[in-house]
Amino acid sequence: MDNPVRDFFISLSDNEFLNQAAKRWGLKLGAQRVVAGITIEETMKKIKELNNQGISCTIDNLGEFVHERNEAIAAKEQIINVVKAIHAHEVDAHISLKASQLGLDIDYDFALNNIEEIVALASEYGIFINMDMENHERLQLSYNLLDDLSKKYDNIGSVIQAYFYRAEEDLKKRHNLKIRLVKGAYKEGSEVAFQTKEAIDANFIKLIEWNLLHGKYTSIGTHDHTIINHVKNYVRKHKISKNTFEFQMLYGFREDLLISLKEEGYRCCSYIPFGKDWYGYFMRRLAERPQNINLLIKQIFNKKTNTMIGLGIGTLIFARLIKQNKK
Ligand SMILES: Cc1cc2nc3c(=O)[nH]c(=O)nc-3n(C[C@H](O)[C@H](O)[C@H](O)COP(=O)(O)OP(=O)(O)OC[C@H]3O[C@@H](n4cnc5c(N)ncnc54)[C@H](O)[C@@H]3O)c2cc1C
Repeated sequence: MDNPVRDFFISLSDNEFLNQAAKRWGLKLGAQRVVAGITIEETMKKIKELNNQGISCTIDNLGEFVHERNEAIAAKEQIINVVKAIHAHEVDAHISLKASQLGLDIDYDFALNNIEEIVALASEYGIFINMDMENHERLQLSYNLLDDLSKKYDNIGSVIQAYFYRAEEDLKKRHNLKIRLVKGAYKEGSEVAFQTKEAIDANFIKLIEWNLLHGKYTSIGTHDHTIINHVKNYVRKHKISKNTFEFQMLYGFREDLLISLKEEGYRCCSYIPFGKDWYGYFMRRLAERPQNINLLIKQIFNKKTNTMIGLGIGTLIFARLIKQNKK
């Protein structure tokens, strides 16, 4: 299904020049609403606030386009610092990481060693590591990393993206791991992925139901109240314990809903992105939910915002919108 606004923001998220530039801007354009902070200390503060409301957290050290070994090593060291901070601050949190940030695009064994170093230390502290899933190009290699590491460590799990045709097969191979189920965030072609919301939602529900009955532990990563209500009815009907699954949402999105789920006795987890590499993550969130564009536009015209950044991105948006209106 054609969705030009979504495609536009996905293409902005892939823009390497803007990505690099954004690292120097600090949190701008409303990104501070969905990114917890730049530093580990700022992030720990937000996590403690959420923990106080009974919500656990998964921490993502933001980062994309890692093609240099030294950048991948720096990312590994930063994630190791986060593992140590979780331990030192005694917060209820674990790690979400991306294989491409740790060198998957450079060399498989290099990435494997980097991730293993993190998993091994986290294992000593009893901290869980989730491997986030990226685009189709990286999918099989990421699962290979997961399968290699899960033979040695029991503190690692991953994500299944319901938009892929192969998702059911991938899930069934890994039902003994803690799995996060999501719809899928990247732009994928019809040769590998369902294209309509109806087909993606149907597969998402099918995978959730299967894993709730057969899986080790299910994290359901969604802001979709229809899916959430379906899950609530399903677990009630099948007498599935509330201790065997949790709802996960991205930081800054539908916090009220997450808190009300917590109050109803469901386990809840907030996905906490932090760091200077916020740009690609933020653009993908705009792609998913065009309502968030209001937020971006307000920030662009906020006097305090760096005018150059605002004008650059603003021009790109308006040029694209005018072009679409002409069609
Ligand atoms: C914790 C977590 C981890 C994730 N990890 C990955 C990953 O590793 N790999 C990956 O590819 N993707 C990941 N994603 C992204 C995911 O794949 C989806 O792209 C994203 O969650 C959007 O889909 P959705 O299920 O939230 O609902 P959507 O299909 O975006 O929305 C469905 C409906 O829900 C309602 N809704 C949605 N958002 C809001 C809102 N903010 N406020 C009010 N109503 C709303 C609207 O009615 C909307 O029509 C993750 C998502 C979460 C929450």
